[in-house]
Amino acid sequence: MDYNPKQGWHDPRIVPYRDISVSPANCTLHYGQAIFEGMKAFRTHDNRIVIFRPLDHINRLNNSARILDIPEVDVETVHQGLRKLIEIEKEWVPAKKGTSLYIRPFIFATDPYLGVSVSATYKMMIILSPVAAYYAAGFNPVKIMVEDTYVRAVPGGLGEAKTPANYAASLHAGLVAHEKGYDQTLWLDGVHRKYIEEVGSMNILFKIKGEIVTPALCGSILSGITRKTVLAVAKEWGVPTSERRITIDEVHEAYQNGELEEVFGSGTAAVISPVGELYYKGEKMVINDGKIGPFTQKMYDHITGLHSGEVKDTLGFVEEIIKL
Ligand code: PMP
Repeated sequence: MDYNPKQGWHDPRIVPYRDISVSPANCTLHYGQAIFEGMKAFRTHDNRIVIFRPLDHINRLNNSARILDIPEVDVETVHQGLRKLIEIEKEWVPAKKGTSLYIRPFIFATDPYLGVSVSATYKMMIILSPVAAYYAAGFNPVKIMVEDTYVRAVPGGLGEAKTPANYAASLHAGLVAHEKGYDQTLWLDGVHRKYIEEVGSMNILFKIKGEIVTPALCGSILSGITRKTVLAVAKEWGVPTSERRITIDEVHEAYQNGELEEVFGSGTAAVISPVGELYYKGEKMVINDGKIGPFTQKMYDHITGLHSGEVKDTLGFVEEIIKL
């Protein structure tokens, strides 16, 4: 659908996937006024098509829109459009456990104007693409490098928005981490360089002395839907949780005292990603002997069970689209 100041958001339509053309002066290409979301639809074991927390994703899209001065979408219009789209494309939702239909809504500015300014016109699109199981080679721990040279986001910046600039800011550091043999980068805050923020495309959680600790939402990290899910499920299980500022030194100290029991990432792509090693300033912290911790495994099984319909959805996270 399209936006202009006269008509607002208008003309929602479903068209086959194809290339689009934009002006070489398209302002998004030059100044990056764009936002996106990533969510998934699943085929359950009893042959229903479901989406996971779609309204949370659409509301987060609007939060990103506010940060980037993009006009907000009508939540119900997008929600209903999304349901219709998935219903039409139901054959593309794969059935094998762990697979899904990835849904990528995005909005970008379309003014063909080379001056730096907020665009007057926009386009919103949704791409659907089936994706293979994330852990095709098995549910294995990842190795993460704590980033102490580069910075992803700063207070007052764009860190809380799901906007391309944040990913552009992380590309080089990601490459350096890969070259050193690490899968992902763990970002520290941009001011003190000591408070833990998030991983490239995941939030990060620690199990310290039985408590699940994760950095509080501070304006410079993404409010992950999977993070919210983990905290809600942990509370349901009676496991203590805490959202607060946590420094890398506190994690290191807990590690040295034998109190750092588990570390894992949370995100739509991987769902739960066990962390087997954290590298910080020349030291390797091997977590739980490099093995998947019991809480991490249980949480992964629980959330993937919600996706497949094998676990009862007591918290109302799963929305049914169609029963086949
Ligand atoms: N942080 C960043 C930077 C991300 O790209 C993602 C993936 N969307 C996450 C955290 C996790 O968010 P979610 O659980 O909503 O996928």
